[in-house]
Amino acid sequence: MSLSLIAKSIKASPTLKLNEKFAILKEKGDPVIHLGGGEPKTKVPMDAILATVAHVNTGEVRYAPADGIPALKQAVIRYTDEFYERKVRPENVIASGGAKQAIMVALQAVLNPQEEVLFPAPYWVSYPDMARMIGAIPVPALPEDGTFYPNIKDITDRVGSYTKAIIINSPNNPTGAFYSEDFIAEVVEFCEKKDIWLIMDDIYHRLLFDGKKPINCFKYAKKKDENSKLIVINGVSKQYAMTGFRIGWAVGNKKVIEAMSNIQGHQTSGPSVLLQKAAVAAINGIQSGVESLRATLENNRNVMVDLLRSFEGVKVNKPDGTFYCLADFSAYEKDSNKLSEFLIDKVQVLTVPGKEFGLDGHLRLSYCGAIKEVQDGIERMKWALDPNSPNELYIGDRKLVRDWS
Ligand code: PMP
Repeated sequence: MSLSLIAKSIKASPTLKLNEKFAILKEKGDPVIHLGGGEPKTKVPMDAILATVAHVNTGEVRYAPADGIPALKQAVIRYTDEFYERKVRPENVIASGGAKQAIMVALQAVLNPQEEVLFPAPYWVSYPDMARMIGAIPVPALPEDGTFYPNIKDITDRVGSYTKAIIINSPNNPTGAFYSEDFIAEVVEFCEKKDIWLIMDDIYHRLLFDGKKPINCFKYAKKKDENSKLIVINGVSKQYAMTGFRIGWAVGNKKVIEAMSNIQGHQTSGPSVLLQKAAVAAINGIQSGVESLRATLENNRNVMVDLLRSFEGVKVNKPDGTFYCLADFSAYEKDSNKLSEFLIDKVQVLTVPGKEFGLDGHLRLSYCGAIKEVQDGIERMKWALDPNSPNELYIGDRKLVRDWS
């Protein structure tokens, strides 16, 4: 079939595919455990629900401006002041259909075909395909020292004349690594010096553990005015458990936000006004849910890491934030796609192959679900992989028998 070159170069999102697989297995009544998920399971804040219902009850749900309703822009302005100590104006803000669209339109606004966008690896699955969708070239930078914490040389070594933008995501999906304040400062300064766009994907910035506090990248920006090429991305999906509301935003200079709005206006128009109202209510409403989610995730992280550490052969770096852990299973199987398939087939545990994030031999395990799922999921994995496991495992009244070694 004569599909476009771009269409042929793009794969389905592996994490969304996994969600579909989970739904199918669940529907069949299989006792499947999803350790591949990317969304908190807590309830949407009541403020957000009430605001959505109140608006829908008016019976008038119309188009929203392409760049977001004024109330959401105001909420983002206040948020930016609170978390970044930066006073921005409505023309510096765009609300999009999730942080995903905010990043996509930012890339569309700044990159030409064949130009490069660089990001540390392991990276969020969508960055490479987002770059490819505009004919740009994704350049992953795996830290040379084998850790999940890049240093500035890992970045600068890969910057060339084609580098137009850098994306930094910290705390990071899939590793949970929170990059050091020094590193963030160096990247901000480096990008300013080289006149490179810097996209800070801060979608997990409030989901930090062990007393760590969000880093304010703007603190290190010398260009405070409309010449700044720093674009900060955030959204309601993770911190407010509002993944299905599809609201994210970007804060940047007036020109780039205008370009992003023009693109978005032709792409999808503004996000649904209902969902924007919900986002306003969540951002301006009672914030205790964010802290309770954070504390639950920290506890889940501890349980998962302890279980993985009792698992001979698995190497794990304790995540500093998010709800993901990228554990090294290469002692069992170097091909992470194969390993992930094996775990689904044998013990019905869904994990995401590290290869999707630029690091084979690893699996991304999520701890955003119930603690019991985390415990049972790792237990099943251990049973499947450890050659010293007993021959049988019961899942409810189902008996699994090892027919592999
Ligand atoms: N950035 C990162 C690093 C993510 O993990 C995700 C969601 N998985 C997004 C952006 C997009 O989030 P949203 O749901 O707001 O589109």
